[in-house]
Amino acid sequence: MSIISFEIVYRGIFQKSLATKISRTFILAAVKDGKVGISFGRYSDSPERNGIPAKQFGYIADTKEELEEVAAQYEPKQVDVTICVDDALCKGVESWGWYGLQPINAVTKPGGTLIVTSNQSSDDLVKHIHRKDTPYNLSIVKGEASFAGLWVYKDDGTDARCMGAALKACPEICSMASLEAAILENIGGNDHVEAARASYEDARSDEIKPGEGNTEVPFTFELLKWQDMRLGVVIDAVGGHNKFGDSDGGYVPGRNEYFKKWSTRTMRPVIQFDICTKCTLCWVACPDTVFDVTPDGYYDANMEACCGCGVCEAICPVPDCITMVNEVVFDERDSQYEMWNKDKEKFGKYVDEKLAKGKVENRHPITGLAGAFSGAGLAGGHNENNFSTKTLKEL
Ligand code: SF4
Ligand code: SF4
Repeated sequence: MSIISFEIVYRGIFQKSLATKISRTFILAAVKDGKVGISFGRYSDSPERNGIPAKQFGYIADTKEELEEVAAQYEPKQVDVTICVDDALCKGVESWGWYGLQPINAVTKPGGTLIVTSNQSSDDLVKHIHRKDTPYNLSIVKGEASFAGLWVYKDDGTDARCMGAALKACPEICSMASLEAAILENIGGNDHVEAARASYEDARSDEIKPGEGNTEVPFTFELLKWQDMRLGVVIDAVGGHNKFGDSDGGYVPGRNEYFKKWSTRTMRPVIQFDICTKCTLCWVACPDTVFDVTPDGYYDANMEACCGCGVCEAICPVPDCITMVNEVVFDERDSQYEMWNKDKEKFGKYVDEKLAKGKVENRHPITGLAGAFSGAGLAGGHNENNFSTKTLKEL
């Protein structure tokens, strides 16, 4: 039996159309080659909250019987190719369906390929990706995360470019001729076909050896078994506790201790406490009650709870006091307030470094998200300037 499988790891709900276009176009191409296939999503409703990681899968088989056998699984245990369309997810995939943090390469087969859309180098990305016991390949499709969303599909060619790179990594998916025909049918015109072709030609991958990468043990927890559940509906009271002091203020709101949003966000807020006026607006407006109140009245964004929506940056009345910065440039989740309080000069340098590396200039005017307008560059990676306010068609 020869089965080819792939997954696309994306952010619900902004990247849903992007992920489904890649998955369905590959299946269409395989069918044109005389194979059978199925494209399906891991989630399709409420868990696809803004920014929550989700997955789209595809199986390709020679016969219907083979396909039925593998499609009976809830989701593939191993895939030939993993396509990750937001490099911040290299830190791990956290969603309601997985019990903790799942490494981005968790189901990539030994010798399979992980494809990431990123402006980072392979070396930088590997620092975030959890190590595996088996080798795999890492291939980068140059560019920021493309927010080709559910409501507004940003036609910037990221889909075609990812498919070109995936086909190079796994030529068994389909023939190039069928991919081109499927792209014309399911996505767009000749510019997309050219983007896929050029990406195929340009695609390179690095072999990542066993044990290479992030040594951190991913956060995990045991789910309650049915025998452990309590009768009836029990809603525990939500309350806060003091983090910063016992008697004189400081407040941390009650939070879900299992659902930590470490990889839910593409960006995180960086706060310059030196110029904060303690106006409370960020604390009031944050939809995820992320801000811990410090005893001296500052507001510290807790990185276990932040989903990276950017509301705090938008509402802060002090220019440059809160800046959203690309999540991928951070290696830690420490309290910024504690860093600042301990050593203001050192924290100032930390802020300068993070802003220089990861300040996101090109943001969607409505969602505020990074990369919403990031163009692919004509014909896949030849254009070094990957930022563009234009779609692939306009380019
Ligand atoms: S980005 Fe700001 S407003 Fe949004 S969840 Fe994080 S702290 Fe709250
Ligand atoms: S909105 Fe800005 S100025 Fe106001 S408390 Fe928050 S960080 Fe400080």
